[in-house]
Amino acid sequence: MREHATTVFGEMSALAVATGSVNLGQGFPDTDGPQVVKDAAIRAIQEGRGNQYPPAHGVPELRAAIAVHQKRFYGIELDPVTDVVVATGASEAIAAALLALVDLGDEVVMFSPWFDLYAAAVSLAGGVRVEVPLTAGAFRPDVDALRAAITPRTRVLLLNSPHNPTGSVFTRDELAAIAAVVAENDLWVISDEAYEHLVFSGSEHVPFCTLPGMAERTVTIGSAGKSLSMTGWKVGWATGPTDLVAAVRVPRQHLSFVSGGPFQWAVVEGLALPDSYWSDFRDGLERQRDLLCTGLVELGLPTTVPQGTYFATTDVRPLGYADGWAFCRDLPGRAGVVAIPHEVFHDDAEAGRPYVRWAFCKRPDVLQEALDRLSRAFA
Ligand SMILES: *Cc1c(COP(=O)(O)O)cnc(C)c1O
Repeated sequence: MREHATTVFGEMSALAVATGSVNLGQGFPDTDGPQVVKDAAIRAIQEGRGNQYPPAHGVPELRAAIAVHQKRFYGIELDPVTDVVVATGASEAIAAALLALVDLGDEVVMFSPWFDLYAAAVSLAGGVRVEVPLTAGAFRPDVDALRAAITPRTRVLLLNSPHNPTGSVFTRDELAAIAAVVAENDLWVISDEAYEHLVFSGSEHVPFCTLPGMAERTVTIGSAGKSLSMTGWKVGWATGPTDLVAAVRVPRQHLSFVSGGPFQWAVVEGLALPDSYWSDFRDGLERQRDLLCTGLVELGLPTTVPQGTYFATTDVRPLGYADGWAFCRDLPGRAGVVAIPHEVFHDDAEAGRPYVRWAFCKRPDVLQEALDRLSRAFA
């Protein structure tokens, strides 16, 4: 595990605090989720719901709420008793799914740049990660490259759309082409859909398990932290066919056993919020995206405008840097802003070299302050 000893997010957030920088590095919102959901957590604590160990696979009411959510938004039918497991965030759900499905030496294929937890979780499971770079700049899945990366040892495709760090939302056609490779090679799929509700106008979130033939092979991952803007609560889940969920439950119950009892009760209310919550949430974040991306473009930075998530990507070469790491190390001192270099999300650092990730899940005044600082530094 030595290669996973530090995370870039911890390092950059510490640098932000030490230098008084605006932190557009780590992806957490600076505005909490709905007050009604906070009130529900407080009420659960006061009323004694979840203060003692809840059931290992999640509070039954939350499993039911997750099943209703999957039906309401995507038409997916799940039995809440057997097809849902609650976890300590999407993070634990992903780790448990890998521990369940990967044997020693099995290969796990993932598009790069990848979310850093994936690399560590594959190592924990004794697997071997195999990365397939998204196309440079546009960050689309290259399905021929995916097909070429599959070997007889490939067991799992670890998929993420909406995609962190690029903000790409894979289209139905792209997902269908990926599904063909999965079927040809008899793979399991872990589909990290933590950003399912953070998809902007003109794009659509298509759960991978809704593609023909994929439901029986796919573990789908969700995150209340992302969907309800409560990233510190760490409530997530895995859903899918009964046999796969049963497999995921085994390692999962021996990781944290259970966590976040009262928060699980609060998430029951959060998932049932009316359509207006979900559309206002999306629209607000889309305005923040537009503010940041417009500002970055005005600075002369080629910016890949994301279709979803918290993140935009720029190519820093026009500012005289060949290397995103060098840029991100200079940035706090030079401009008082923190961002994250893409190369930490690749094994082949070269593929990520010129790119930097900026988080826009911050209040408009904070984004404006960051842009003002950048334009003073790079005028
Ligand atoms: C934040 C994030 C997660 C982890 O979600 P938690 O619910 O906080 O554990 C998983 N996958 C991606 C892509 C993320 O960005």
